[in-house]
Amino acid sequence: MTHVKLHIPGPVEVSAKTFQAFCQPMIGHRGQGFKDLYAKIQPQLQQLLYTKQLVFLSTSSAWGVMEGAARNLVRKRVLNCMCGAFSDKWFDVSKRCGKEAEALQAPWGSPIRPEQVEARLATGQFDALTIIHNETSTGVMSRIYEIAALKKKFPDVMFIVDAVSSMSAVKLEFDALGVDVLLAGTQKAFALPPGLAVFVCSPAALAKAAGATDRGYYFDFVEFQKNAEQSMTPSTPSIGHVHALASKLDDIFAEGLEARFARHKKLAEMTRAWAAKHGFTLFPESGFESVTLTCVNNGAKPGGRAVDVPKLQKLVKDQGFLIDGGYGKIKGTTFRISNMGDETEATMNQLYAALDGAMKQL
Ligand SMILES: *Cc1c(COP(=O)(O)O)cnc(C)c1O
Repeated sequence: MTHVKLHIPGPVEVSAKTFQAFCQPMIGHRGQGFKDLYAKIQPQLQQLLYTKQLVFLSTSSAWGVMEGAARNLVRKRVLNCMCGAFSDKWFDVSKRCGKEAEALQAPWGSPIRPEQVEARLATGQFDALTIIHNETSTGVMSRIYEIAALKKKFPDVMFIVDAVSSMSAVKLEFDALGVDVLLAGTQKAFALPPGLAVFVCSPAALAKAAGATDRGYYFDFVEFQKNAEQSMTPSTPSIGHVHALASKLDDIFAEGLEARFARHKKLAEMTRAWAAKHGFTLFPESGFESVTLTCVNNGAKPGGRAVDVPKLQKLVKDQGFLIDGGYGKIKGTTFRISNMGDETEATMNQLYAALDGAMKQL
């Protein structure tokens, strides 16, 4: 079986080193071995997220924690800031959790702007908002620091931030941001196998969660806090993932956070340059391009080049790389290339060479 390397925006390629860490002998999740493991990575997670709060590990994909945030923190009405498939979906999920929800819809390709959020919050109707930092379906990165600054004006609103495809690739200082929840799944920029989510809550979020009577058990944020204080998780976690995360955090700090952030930025710039070289424009509004993936415009917007995307994917796959053919309603009219995780200039150049070869045949 030939290996096809993943350059889709999640799951991404997992290194042999990470898999090796994943496959260590099983240990009990209430034993000292697990507590030592979690206690070892806790300060690294806190350093990564620039926080003094305890960082939680959820054995679920990101949606588990996203749904949990609605159950723990929305009492009155939630404002779902929407600008792509994942952020749009959160509106649906809020309603499925029985919450009153309102859509703040920005066009796909545009970011969420602070003025829009402020205007809605000023109505006083909301006690929570959801926002996605890096909308993976459109490759748009919203200016989360500018939006988080609104928290000062609306201190009682819970700011729930999905950083699923940006956490660890972009500097996100949880305490300085002042938001209430920051969450991610590990199959994106962490480059671990899917199945684990990492999140952190503000003291205000934990206090609010404590007053929610219908927050369930599996995603009860108060349980996460109580257990994390003992270096444990509420239920049996995927222990392999925690070993893999420990290995990855060692890699992250060996590289250095600033170097890691700069690497992601550089590689995204290289992909944008590749697209421009072939006459493609980008799908995101200028100035809001993601640094972990590139969403290439393939006719979704006027101007620029368009190609047969399934054919491009096949030609690239024949050379051992998987790229994404666009998500949801922009499937085929965009395509996406991920540079998140362990990629380097050398590995990205191999991908561009395969893409160049494919473009010659289109
Ligand atoms: C991938 C992704 C999700 C969904 O994550 P799951 O791990 O599938 O639950 C949510 N938000 C963003 C921004 C994503 O990229």
